[in-house]
Amino acid sequence: MGKKIRIFSYSVFLLLTTLESSFASSLSQSNSNQGIEHSISRNLKEDQSQVPEVHCSRERSRAAWKVIEEYLMPFLEREKYQLSSKCRLHPSNDIFRDQEENKIHVDINEWRCGYCKKIFRAEKYLDQHFDNRHLNLLNVSGSKCLADVCGALHCDLVMDTQSRKTKCNPAAAAKNRHLCEDLADSCFPINQGPQATRLHELFLRQFCDAHTCSGGRKPFSRGGRKHTSIFYLAISILILMFLPIFYLIVYLYQREMRTGGQQLKRISKPGRKPKPS
Ligand SMILES: [Zn+2]
Repeated sequence: MGKKIRIFSYSVFLLLTTLESSFASSLSQSNSNQGIEHSISRNLKEDQSQVPEVHCSRERSRAAWKVIEEYLMPFLEREKYQLSSKCRLHPSNDIFRDQEENKIHVDINEWRCGYCKKIFRAEKYLDQHFDNRHLNLLNVSGSKCLADVCGALHCDLVMDTQSRKTKCNPAAAAKNRHLCEDLADSCFPINQGPQATRLHELFLRQFCDAHTCSGGRKPFSRGGRKHTSIFYLAISILILMFLPIFYLIVYLYQREMRTGGQQLKRISKPGRKPKPS
């Protein structure tokens, strides 16, 4: 009996010591984890303090770039004209250009970060990720904010803004027209040959003429990049699919008519002359 008690108390002692040692090790591990987390957060804070503050709208910069790509680039390509970096429309003057080019749109609900390959459900989450994780990769060295030329470029027309201003403000229109003409002068100086002169003229018609409250003139009057619409593609595929079916129906109908007519003839052959009514 005494031996049994001794064995029992010994096993309880063993159990307690194992529990104690595992508790101590987990405690020390959590302490070291806290240490790592602490040092990470400190490093992050140090990194963030090195990143300059950005006061430039990513969304509006993106809209401005969309307008440039859609309604200006096709004409530059046609003229084989190179924008000078002094021109505010030059890609190097868009602080978000590098980040925007590192956006990979894999699928409708899949956006990948080109820097760290992380995947997001929507573009806005990738934008947030860029702001939180890759702010140090912004091209802020002497760059200007592309969103600042939005007034001249009619960015609102390519943004999904529900509440568009319906009332025209003459002062704002005049200011935007001035900014627009400044862009034309600095990007396409008329003393730099026939290409620049032609593009200067085009820029005024395409963007600046519409900055007026007298109405009548519309922006992007010279057109933009041509897109093959998905809608037209779908319609053509549907027509191509239904055309054989349509012909088959017509063929079957005509065959039916022909055989029906022959049967009628066969029936009416031995018949008598119709009674005169
Ligand atoms: Zn990333």
